[in-house]
Amino acid sequence: MPELYHNLINGEMIDTGEWLDVINPATEEVIGKVPACGAAELDKAVAAARAAFKTWSRTPIEERRKAVQGIAKIIQDNHEELYRLLTSEQGKPHEQAKGEIMGAAYMAGSQATLELEDVVNEDSDTRLSRTRRVPVGVVGGIVPWNFPVMMAVQKIAPAMLSGCTIVLKPSPFTPLTTLRLAELIKDAAPPGVVNIITGEDSLGPLITSHPDIDKITFTGSTATGKKIMEGASKDLKRITLELGGNDASIVLPDADVEKVAEQLFWSSFSNAGQICVAAKRIYIHEDIYDELSQAIAAYAKTVTVGDGSQQGTGVGPIQNKKQFDRVCELIEDARDNGYKFLVGGEVDPSGSGYYVPITILDNPPEDARIVAEEQFGPVMPLMKFSTDDEVIARANNSEYGLAGAVWTKDTDRGVAIAEQLETGTVWINEYLHLSPFAPFGGHKQSGFGAEYGLEGLKEFTYAQVITVKKDAMV
Ligand code: NAD
Repeated sequence: MPELYHNLINGEMIDTGEWLDVINPATEEVIGKVPACGAAELDKAVAAARAAFKTWSRTPIEERRKAVQGIAKIIQDNHEELYRLLTSEQGKPHEQAKGEIMGAAYMAGSQATLELEDVVNEDSDTRLSRTRRVPVGVVGGIVPWNFPVMMAVQKIAPAMLSGCTIVLKPSPFTPLTTLRLAELIKDAAPPGVVNIITGEDSLGPLITSHPDIDKITFTGSTATGKKIMEGASKDLKRITLELGGNDASIVLPDADVEKVAEQLFWSSFSNAGQICVAAKRIYIHEDIYDELSQAIAAYAKTVTVGDGSQQGTGVGPIQNKKQFDRVCELIEDARDNGYKFLVGGEVDPSGSGYYVPITILDNPPEDARIVAEEQFGPVMPLMKFSTDDEVIARANNSEYGLAGAVWTKDTDRGVAIAEQLETGTVWINEYLHLSPFAPFGGHKQSGFGAEYGLEGLKEFTYAQVITVKKDAMV
């Protein structure tokens, strides 16, 4: 019998009597049921958040900071239970699930140390003008299925710290660990400060258009991000959108083939490629293309695809059937067009679980779907380039602008290339490193605004300028 999970509204764990099934993508078995919320439950959660906002927004920041740090500690103390549950609903191998849970604890604890100080704009004989930051109010948080806990916590922590209250909706595909976390943290802040409700995708637009929600913070696809922007425009809600990417990695001819092969592999295949900032197009200089592509292929053949709860699994299943079908379609398209596979390319439809084999394509054309679209799966195209200018133009030839990387011994040349890439983050000689102190956000259609760092925290606040005319009453 699948376990029943409950929602957190106003400090109470509740259900609606109607349930949604959650399945394990490694086995396709139903492993849990979560409440199916609609407008009535959303109204209750928003009312609780609104009521809590009155006092939480005026609670001293030190107390709010302690509450966020308390949540970080709860996550850390319960990490083993949480990461096992996360693997069972999301599919990622235990080690990677542990990384997500511990990462969420670290990010929350570190973000809790941030503070938006008042800024003095003018302090003259006649006037004192300062800008302070005030919380925007009730936040609606909407989260995807690839990093459900990390994404939930990276919305809850800054909302709480800034003095906002939040109603958070996990993805219907991966709500279990977030709801278990809800139960664990329910007393970490006063009732109504954090509310977590589950429902179908249709709950999303109800949040976006709710008249008593002041801000939406969303992570998910660019297509949904556009709908959210439209929905939020009706009452000019503040929005932060973290969206899709088609990130390019550029490997210069001086890169150490032995050292980079394994790192390039994991930059694409961690979480079965389902990472917004995964390397989705890898451009290798022609001088080392053959050697490096062979080294990546050789390493790929040592990695096991399977159930993430089994020891030795490096790449788990795709998280859900819809995404599995999409990745299979991209592989089929590559096969139909006669592109060359270095590794994989044959999906075995028999058996249960959404498994896609590690697939690496050998120099497909720039207009191939697998190059031009965000694949979000364990399929990596390797492409040859000749000059820096050419590869910069190819990397920038995308509607997305989330992240990218350059691999080289010559870091000055790497930085010079990085500065010409149209993305929010560029890594030199590393990948997937996010800092709680640095803003993370997309250029172009990869996002709007940022998370993390002071810039991320600011997005949960309004600027308020207070000006005192010093000599007016004397
Ligand atoms: P999705 O857009 O389908 O769903 C994300 C969330 O939005 C879910 O909770 C879903 O229920 C909800 N939703 C769906 N329709 C909605 C609507 N009309 N209004 C409001 N909410 C709605 O995305 P996904 O498939 O869960 O996630 C994969 C995508 O997320 C990829 O494109 C990936 O690149 C992107 N992503 C981006 C980042 C980032 O930080 N930039 C991080 C992770 C994932």
